[in-house]
Amino acid sequence: MKQATTTSAPVAIVGFGTAGVNAAIALRNSGYEGVIRVFSNIETLPYSPILTSYYAGGEKSYDECFPWSYDEIAELNLDVVEDGPVTKLDPADHVISTANGTYEYSKCIVATGATPMCWGFPGVDNDDYQPLVLRSMDDAERLKTALENPSCKRLLVSGASMVALKTLEAGLNHNLECTLVGINPHVLDFNALPEAAIRFEKGLRAKGVTLKLGQKIESVIRTDEGLAVTFSTGETGVYDEISVAHGMKSNIDFIEPGSLEVDRALVVDEFMRTSDPDVYAAGDVAQGTELISGEKRIVGIWKNAALQGACAGQAIACELSGTEVPESCKLPGSISTNTIAVNGTLFISAGTMDVTENRTVEVRESEDMTVVYIFEETQRGERRLVGFNITCDHDEPGGRAYDIGAMLTLRIEAGCR
Ligand SMILES: Cc1cc2nc3c(=O)[nH]c(=O)nc-3n(C[C@H](O)[C@H](O)[C@H](O)COP(=O)(O)OP(=O)(O)OC[C@H]3O[C@@H](n4cnc5c(N)ncnc54)[C@H](O)[C@@H]3O)c2cc1C
Repeated sequence: MKQATTTSAPVAIVGFGTAGVNAAIALRNSGYEGVIRVFSNIETLPYSPILTSYYAGGEKSYDECFPWSYDEIAELNLDVVEDGPVTKLDPADHVISTANGTYEYSKCIVATGATPMCWGFPGVDNDDYQPLVLRSMDDAERLKTALENPSCKRLLVSGASMVALKTLEAGLNHNLECTLVGINPHVLDFNALPEAAIRFEKGLRAKGVTLKLGQKIESVIRTDEGLAVTFSTGETGVYDEISVAHGMKSNIDFIEPGSLEVDRALVVDEFMRTSDPDVYAAGDVAQGTELISGEKRIVGIWKNAALQGACAGQAIACELSGTEVPESCKLPGSISTNTIAVNGTLFISAGTMDVTENRTVEVRESEDMTVVYIFEETQRGERRLVGFNITCDHDEPGGRAYDIGAMLTLRIEAGCR
């Protein structure tokens, strides 16, 4: 096995999203002056997947979806390879391949994010229709075009996760007749307990959304009227477009099989090192410690991707300069946090939604808000907050719901220390 004994080969960053950009910033801020070779499969500046639904819904312009300016990226002095996707990462030989060439690296950060999946979508019987999905700017462009098409009046969203709900909001913003079908009994899969989800559902219904919960799409057939859907309950409906948000899969297919420890994503330590000392991973492609469970999990949120990228960049800069990686660089883990508003109904959550034997749930309802707390009895007999949901009937920037959310998030984080 070739070892990265010299610093002459570049540091490689595969994937140019928030994890990749923050890795590059941290490398430079930590004094690394060598070549940083970034492998990007997009021809634009790095974009924010968070903003794609706002673009599709007409709330943001195309340019507003790019958090970093051309000048800010240029300042990092990166060697950006736009050869299309990386097709192979071979950790044993320290080599990265694209369709057009092979490149050596000294250290590599994998920051390739995730791809939306249509698991369980049966396809359209007599047509090659591809459902709408949402992650990249190309996805957003396709969604926007579909929603703005005057012949599109009826949108069916399959899935009840954050991404599904943001897609639904984009449809509502275009005044479409919106239906959401979800296999679970409530929306906000895995992020909300029923009490909070029910209030959110009330908000959606008030906006005219038809909810078909506890069911799924059984079959779809193209007819003259549109896409005729039969649901698992036997009910039917006809739609002009179908969006599917059935989860994400980490982009790791290009990694030489067996070369790195993989679970659902690349398993990393608290410096974002994979099982190979010269390969790091950050963002939605990394499985670091989730602080409440103590397990290695994907925490697929923007802040985590940014922090993990920064951690990997700083750790590599230290290693290559021969200095010890400082304790302050360590990322002991993270917790999941989510904030979503759909046309004025707000939902904020953090921590775990697993109600295990040693946990209790408390619900406090007020006129405009439901707050659900999940407490855990510790071994010392103390009660610590490990999760919460807030659903508020209005989304007032900087309002009380946001204050409570920030305070409870800090409380959960403090309990993890
Ligand atoms: C619709 C939507 C809404 C969201 N809303 C929120 C929110 O409100 N709050 C929040 O915290 N998080 C949200 N998220 C999640 C958040 O966007 C992600 O956690 C974050 O962007 C992950 O960053 P990343 O750098 O790991 O991945 P990405 O930003 O996806 O970047 C990965 C990059 O790698 C590229 N790539 C992939 N494969 C290859 C390859 N083989 N070679 C080269 N390049 C490759 C990809 O094209 C992409 O450019 C949302 C996500 C979506 C899709």
